[in-house]
Amino acid sequence: MLLLCLFVLSPYCQAMKMDGQWYWQEDPVHTEDVPEERVVQEAVAGKGDWKPFRVPGQPPVAKNTQYVWLMTTMPAEPIHDATLLFNVTDQSFELWLDDQKIYSYGDMQSRGMSYGQRWHLIMLPKDYEGKKLLIRTHSDNPFCLGNFSYIQLDSSVMQMASILRRDIPYIANIPLGLFMICIMLMYYMSPTAPKSLYTQIILFMISFDIWMMCVLNTKQLLLDAPVFWWFLLRINAYLLPILANLIIYRVIDRKYRRRTWKVVLAFTALFLLVVLAEIFGFHGLDAGASVFYIMLPVLDGCVAYWTIRSAIRGNYYCRAMLLPLVVMLVAGTLDGFFGHFYWLPESGSLLPYGTFTIGIFLLYIVRQQIRRERSLAVRAAGLADAMAEAVERSETDRLTHCYNRNRLEAVLAEQARRHREEAEAFSLIMLDIDFFKRINDTYGHDAGDEVLASFAGLIRDNIKKSDVFVRWGGEEFILVCCGCSGEEALLIAERLRRQVAHSAIFPQQRITCSVGVTSWQGGRDTVPALLKRVDQALYTAKRKGRNRVCQVSENIGLSSE
Ligand code: GH3
Ligand code: MG
Ligand code: MG
Repeated sequence: MLLLCLFVLSPYCQAMKMDGQWYWQEDPVHTEDVPEERVVQEAVAGKGDWKPFRVPGQPPVAKNTQYVWLMTTMPAEPIHDATLLFNVTDQSFELWLDDQKIYSYGDMQSRGMSYGQRWHLIMLPKDYEGKKLLIRTHSDNPFCLGNFSYIQLDSSVMQMASILRRDIPYIANIPLGLFMICIMLMYYMSPTAPKSLYTQIILFMISFDIWMMCVLNTKQLLLDAPVFWWFLLRINAYLLPILANLIIYRVIDRKYRRRTWKVVLAFTALFLLVVLAEIFGFHGLDAGASVFYIMLPVLDGCVAYWTIRSAIRGNYYCRAMLLPLVVMLVAGTLDGFFGHFYWLPESGSLLPYGTFTIGIFLLYIVRQQIRRERSLAVRAAGLADAMAEAVERSETDRLTHCYNRNRLEAVLAEQARRHREEAEAFSLIMLDIDFFKRINDTYGHDAGDEVLASFAGLIRDNIKKSDVFVRWGGEEFILVCCGCSGEEALLIAERLRRQVAHSAIFPQQRITCSVGVTSWQGGRDTVPALLKRVDQALYTAKRKGRNRVCQVSENIGLSSE
């Protein structure tokens, strides 16, 4: 949408340039004590030592000059609702059309005052065509005196459109920048994020967004604080290469780290120097600008070269950083040449479009983060599997694949807790192979093992999945029948006993088992008591002749079948 606006608006915003020759001279009022009206009269008459100079740009004023006159002739063609639009930095000024004063801004007598940067839109009187435009300007900042950039003549509507048109690159990119900051903040929260790298990217993005906000023309309509915006703009301009190079320093190949650090130090030194010079009244922020715009392509050109070398060697982050670095370096340098040195004819606003390339960098970063998280997730899943397997192994018996005592303890504790007061909520069946020792003695230990495994397999095939089958030790097994009363457990036990007795677990010899049964009584019943009862029941079965089922319950005492 915004690009479309740019496309639609631009043909209508070709304002008329003030392309008449510009002249300047030092202010005779302050040099020779001549009355102001006479100076104006003489200036209109073309008297005085008028020297030509190029606009946009600054007349070559001497360092100690504080008052300068500028003069040009207004175009001859009339424009309806004509206005003058121009940008002024750090100056107070007065405007005359011939000998008529039409506008003034700031205090013409002040010393050591800053006026920041501001655009002015000035309504022209009707018969302005062909008249002399005179500007008397005052500043104690030699870097700004006499500089009226991008002065243009047009109707007020067109001037506003032009102000908006110049803002489009910034308006389009500020929200994008904010959006990216939010994304980075989101990823910053991730436990796997490289925090210090993300902090630096976020700081850079914040500084870049503030810088873009300070360049906006329309900000003046919302908050007319030219000094505040001007300081903020320049401080962020000096900060941007420091923050950008810090990001590169963090990711570049080890070989180039020290050199990149030196570039960071160079920009930091310049920043501190200009801030100190500003504090002590030497207009450091302006004085440093030329050095800054020369340092930028030279030093960051080197950094770009090192980043390319690192990228070629396979450095992922450097590869990601290459496009934004090169684009922003070229754009920043060109903007500097446009806006500061006036080496190029048009005002440039290329740097804000660098946001798009930062977007590509962020995509790379997010991709890397997703990869990292995915590999961690895979590793976590592997760990969870391994852990489940380890737990399973710690709870099962190798030979019979039954659970072992560890699991039995956990299951009984859980059942007892769940059915604290509920009698007959679950039951225990204990099975013991009869005369097992004889099998071992007759056929060997391996045969005994086979019998144990087959016996366990037979029982397992004939119980419910919810029942927990445990090897209690040796040739003794316990079956926890969840949700079974003693009566039901008795039936199950009898069925199992019969199945064992009629099976061909061990072809050489008939295998039988004795079985004890008991059930949970609730109330004051305990797990050790439960285990003791079932053991008693089994013992009774053995004593009564084996291959039978006996039940012990606390109240009933003893019954057998
Ligand atoms: P009862 O009818 O009274 O139960 O007599 P039993 O011989 O079955 O009982 P006893 O407790 O006297 O013997 C159990 C035998 O089980 C003793 C031991 O050698 C054997 N045994 C214990 N664990 C294993 C094992 O893992 N493999 C083999 N092959 N034998 C085992
Ligand atoms: Mg036995
Ligand atoms: Mg035994």
